[in-house]
Amino acid sequence: MTKAHQHACLECDLLITMPRTISHRTNVHCPRCNHKIAIGHNNAKQYVLAMSVTALILMFIACTFSFISFSSNGQARTINLLQTSTELYSQEYYFVSFLVLSFIVLLPTLYLLSVCLIILNTYQRSHIFPSAKLGRLMSYILPWSMAEVFLIGVLVALIKVVDMADVSLAPSFWAYVIFAPLFTHIASIVDNHRLWSWIDNAK
Ligand SMILES: [Zn+2]
Repeated sequence: MTKAHQHACLECDLLITMPRTISHRTNVHCPRCNHKIAIGHNNAKQYVLAMSVTALILMFIACTFSFISFSSNGQARTINLLQTSTELYSQEYYFVSFLVLSFIVLLPTLYLLSVCLIILNTYQRSHIFPSAKLGRLMSYILPWSMAEVFLIGVLVALIKVVDMADVSLAPSFWAYVIFAPLFTHIASIVDNHRLWSWIDNAK
């Protein structure tokens, strides 16, 4: 972070002139309401890029392999992550099916692809996708990305099902177990100040 710019506090709307550099793990708080504005991180750009690519690979694994297997009274059933949406679709819950697919797969993936493209745009002059539009898209997407909510829902459901059937957790489940907290970690590092300083650097 070398370029100073002003940043409006999300809590109280105070316009704050951000410091040119923020030391590693140092928090910048709003002087009026003490809301955390930004946190310093060495090599944030490279770190976030590496973590985002890792998260995208985990999402690919989560969508490719089996998620959970159930067996009870001699009958076995294996489901994959995308079936959480397609099963709803087959029961004619079209809108709910679309929302589930969006919240747990499409929007987190779109967020991660956007952050990767914004970081890559800081290294090159010609941009296929403009960083400012991607940044705005990420702001809209983030509140609707619910990977961790879905994971907690699955864990609660498993506690209820485990008495009724033999449950075995497949590779896709473990990939998503790592993906959900990793996504939250990435989103916590990509605060508005850092995101828009990358977008400024890309211009
Ligand atoms: Zn404030």
